[in-house]
Amino acid sequence: MHALFSEAPAPARSATASDAICLSVVIPFLNEQEVLPLCLERLRPLLQDQGYPYELVFVDDGSTDASVALLTAAARHDPTLRIVRLSRNFGKEAAMSAGLAHARGAAVIVLDADLQDPPELIPAMMEAWRAGADVVSMRRRSRQGEGLLKRLSAYAFYRLLSRLSRSTIPADTGDFRLMSRRAVDALLSLPERCRYMKGLYAWVGMPTTVIDYDRAPRAAGATKWNYFSLFGLAMEGITSFSTTPLRWATAIGAVIALLGGGFGVAIVLKTLLYGDTVPGYPSLMAMITVLSGIQLLTIGLLGEYLGKTYMESKQRPVYLVREVIEPAAASGSMRANVEILDAHRQ
Ligand code: UDP
Ligand code: MG
Repeated sequence: MHALFSEAPAPARSATASDAICLSVVIPFLNEQEVLPLCLERLRPLLQDQGYPYELVFVDDGSTDASVALLTAAARHDPTLRIVRLSRNFGKEAAMSAGLAHARGAAVIVLDADLQDPPELIPAMMEAWRAGADVVSMRRRSRQGEGLLKRLSAYAFYRLLSRLSRSTIPADTGDFRLMSRRAVDALLSLPERCRYMKGLYAWVGMPTTVIDYDRAPRAAGATKWNYFSLFGLAMEGITSFSTTPLRWATAIGAVIALLGGGFGVAIVLKTLLYGDTVPGYPSLMAMITVLSGIQLLTIGLLGEYLGKTYMESKQRPVYLVREVIEPAAASGSMRANVEILDAHRQ
């Protein structure tokens, strides 16, 4: 059994009075001034009703609008609100890693700021966690407010990826999910820089409960993704979690080499049987075809591995934190911690 699972069973999880945070809600955002007030408005009463200690960890992924000012003002009257500001825009995947690293709860839920992931499902997710699930992943039953092309390409991508990769990356589950403390710690312990989160979640595994839900349209504002960035994310997903495309390169190279070989044999036979030939040309042609096929194959293969190794070997942090804005525990006043280079919680 894996070490993670060999521990004694965890004590019964209950939301008893203790200052330990039971739930952290991690919300990465980029220029969401239109939806953040709505988001707070819907989240806060809901969480206050639950009766357990919680925190909201907002991760500012390099916003340039009034989002941060808005949240800072809200944090003045709300001790549960923390804002982790990244030094620039690192992308949602990195922002989520930052949020997970700063979350202190026994359970952590990742939520989009645009209210596409309904906060009303949080009690059901907590219920599943209390029943023993380490991961509660939310499967989209429908995608309202998203174009046909986006839905089709998402469908095609998830099917392709699950064919290519070894750890099954489930279709139609996004970043909206609950993770237990040990699932979060396991995720944070993964050292790679290329963080394709959906693949990493699948790699971590652990007892998972799936809940189906209807994905709502964006509450306000506009999507931050365009087809080019989605294509980039798709390529990242495929190359991080599968070497199958390399195998295709091998197969194509092998086919070319075989064809070249066959061509050579055919020319030799033709020369033997009919005797008509231009000296030197056929053998040259055959050799060039065979060798160039094999060469392309090897270069492609090396290039893929080298590229990935290069990116990882630079060992750059996944993100940089500019400051963490949080209500000071004792005085209730604001304190700003500058945590430059705090990429991972130690
Ligand atoms: N987001 C982010 N950094 C980025 C892009 C997006 O933190 O570089 C956040 C965004 O503010 C939102 C969430 O990620 O809270 C999902 O983004 P969006 O709604 O634009 O994506 P979609 O739902 O259209 O896939
Ligand atoms: Mg969205």
